[in-house]
Amino acid sequence: MFGINMMRKGDVWPECHAKNIMFITMVLEYIWRSVSDEYKSKMLEADQLSNEEIENSIIDKFNVHENGPISEWLNMTSLFTSGCPHKINKGNFSGCSMCNYFKEDLESLVLINLLKERDPVRYGNVIKYSFDLLRGKKKMPNLFEYVNGHDSLSPDELPDPVFQQIFLKEQLFSSKPYRLILETRANNVSAARIRECKKKSAKTIEIAFGVEVYDDWIRNHWLNKDIGNRDIINAIRTIKECGCISRGNLLIGIPGLNEKQSLLILKKSVDWLLDLQIDRITVSPLNNKENTLQNFIYNHFEQTEESKNRAVIGSMEDGNPSVFFLFDAIYMLMENQKLLDIIVFAPINFIKYFDMKLKYHKFKGLKDICSYISNAMIEFDKTRDSAILERVKEQLCNEAQYQAYKKENERLPGLDGVYDTLRWTGKMLSKSIWGNRWKEKTEVLDEELNHLNTKFTER
Ligand code: SF4
Repeated sequence: MFGINMMRKGDVWPECHAKNIMFITMVLEYIWRSVSDEYKSKMLEADQLSNEEIENSIIDKFNVHENGPISEWLNMTSLFTSGCPHKINKGNFSGCSMCNYFKEDLESLVLINLLKERDPVRYGNVIKYSFDLLRGKKKMPNLFEYVNGHDSLSPDELPDPVFQQIFLKEQLFSSKPYRLILETRANNVSAARIRECKKKSAKTIEIAFGVEVYDDWIRNHWLNKDIGNRDIINAIRTIKECGCISRGNLLIGIPGLNEKQSLLILKKSVDWLLDLQIDRITVSPLNNKENTLQNFIYNHFEQTEESKNRAVIGSMEDGNPSVFFLFDAIYMLMENQKLLDIIVFAPINFIKYFDMKLKYHKFKGLKDICSYISNAMIEFDKTRDSAILERVKEQLCNEAQYQAYKKENERLPGLDGVYDTLRWTGKMLSKSIWGNRWKEKTEVLDEELNHLNTKFTER
């Protein structure tokens, strides 16, 4: 890792910030500030290097062991690109509040961004080299090939000549895979790129993009996504017009809201996407990763009576949503038989989630129940046999801890309390970050909350 200086309780961020920046962006810029500083200082150092030195230095650092087949039918290959432009934000890191995507070290990220700026051809060569190294040159494709940039249709991450070089100049594999899966942000879904790519690289193309929640305000003012409902509607329509498959990613758990609210929002998000005739939906449990909003809540919210009563995600257990919540979410979705073929479990996030939960419950009891749920979910994912979930549900209903969880859930505010919960979490964030200037900063959130959907308002 790259030496992030974690803030301690009681530290205060003194800087005055420019006006008209959303509350959540200020919070995220604060959380990421030491990474931004380090990135900028490394950028100054790297600027002394020649393009050739930069290219060699990146290539020397490649780790061939990072990728590999993730199932019998699917391979996932992560391209080494300049990263998600929304997260890096020209060196002022912020991006989505639940995201800490990059495993690369910061130095390589600096180098690859500098190379992109100075010499796009070399930048393209490095990306192609990373693909060949990890997946093999002109290898026989698996049925499904996930070729993963961060925002793969973005002209910023993959400028036109680079996109051409990777996907269009020659075939990536010895023949066309049955399906090529690309990930992008909804606002960058482009018919031209999808059509060309389909012609050259695969029999079908699936385009995955983050939706996270159905509500525009929560997606942007709380998750800092910078993607409107309009972008999502257009993306689904464009992908369909290109004869390709659309896949929206949804979050199981919203940081800073409680589990009851998160569950209701998940349900509405799925219904909304079905109405829009999306083809597939990936669901991901929120993971407590460094530098996320959830992780900040976990590290900084005091365990007071009020915070226990509020039970917002991040502040409870190990900072991850509870395993009962996760099971209830999957059970609720799968009651709708139509969804059995539509919902995909994000493999990496489920694995990480259960790893963390099993470690946590090793010390706090519930380990057996947690393993039982984890194994059942793996089995269910393979077979899609609803009877597996029914058996788990029946078993859980006899468990005292599950009964206590359900009872506690009844007490929590639902959708009409979202306004109040966001306000409280916002106030706690402000106090942790800005100390005695917290009121002034909370006013920015209050102003934005005036535009929150009235369904969420208990005023
Ligand atoms: S768009 Fe995706 S990669 Fe970029 S910050 Fe958001 S979640 Fe992370």
